[in-house]
Amino acid sequence: MKLIDIVVPCYNEEEVLPLFIEETNRVIDTIRHYRFRYIFVNDGSKDKTLMVLRTLASRFPNVRYISFSRNFGKEAAMYAGLQHSTGDYVIVMDADLQHPPKMFPDMIKGVEEGYDCCALYRAKQKGESKIRQLVSKIFFSFQNKISDVKMPDGAVDYRIMSRQMVDSIVKLSEKQRFSKGIFCWVGYNTKWIEYQNVERTVGATKWSIWGLFKYALDGITSFSVAPLRFIAVLGFVIFLLSLIWIIITLVQTLIMGIDVPGYVTTLCAVLFSGGIVEMSVGIIGEYIGRIYIEAKDRPIYIASETNFED
Ligand code: UDP
Ligand code: MG
Repeated sequence: MKLIDIVVPCYNEEEVLPLFIEETNRVIDTIRHYRFRYIFVNDGSKDKTLMVLRTLASRFPNVRYISFSRNFGKEAAMYAGLQHSTGDYVIVMDADLQHPPKMFPDMIKGVEEGYDCCALYRAKQKGESKIRQLVSKIFFSFQNKISDVKMPDGAVDYRIMSRQMVDSIVKLSEKQRFSKGIFCWVGYNTKWIEYQNVERTVGATKWSIWGLFKYALDGITSFSVAPLRFIAVLGFVIFLLSLIWIIITLVQTLIMGIDVPGYVTTLCAVLFSGGIVEMSVGIIGEYIGRIYIEAKDRPIYIASETNFED
């Protein structure tokens, strides 16, 4: 029988975990020919998530968990889970039941059809604010335009992948992980299926608008150098325009003599070029910061407890 590992990152999910496992077990029990194993990753939760995981592990023999020494973020948690997985297939999903386990049979069908991966995208974002929907839409279309990785609007981190694909992903050991992009970057055949988004039943989302903005920035800078190219082109265009302006001004001065008032134009030019330079330095800084963090080569996560018997 083939083994399917289910990787679940958890951050402050004490309330939802018992419901999660109950509902997922109900689905698993209806699926023949596969064995399932849970790999929960406690991402430094501040509530009793670890205690709940210990209890679940003692109740169910197919529950493994890894607990981080602090909060390292969902990307790190997913990485730890994938790294520890050994199954023929690996499912990644959220703990909050927003990724309905009832999609398992369709996902498994996808990989049985010969795809390396079967991933889901949200049909409609019920229960999410208009701003978030808009931000998500802008992000996906921008991301797809400027970088090599393409994904449908509403792509989520809920998917099943073959062993081979998971091994490729684990090999990408960058510290600032943007999994949505990494999943696409490694290639392989992906089947996209639609699912109806569900509202979070208990607990609260861990994302703020600022958090989402940083996430989008990470996504763009991890997979594209288009912003760098943009400032290079912008600089060139401004250089050409200034050249024309300089020539015009020089000719005017030579013909008509020095014209002292020029305060406004000078001020505009100085402020405008100053702004452009500052923006460009900021964009370059974004990339330098990323190089800096990668260069330190710190581990992606630190685990303080696990029930994986090595
Ligand atoms: N999560 C995590 N570490 C974090 C934040 C979130 O492991 O720092 C987990 C969380 O427990 C959940 C999943 O990532 O299983 C998605 O989080 P959330 O539901 O807050 O995000 P959303 O569904 O709003 O995108
Ligand atoms: Mg959620």
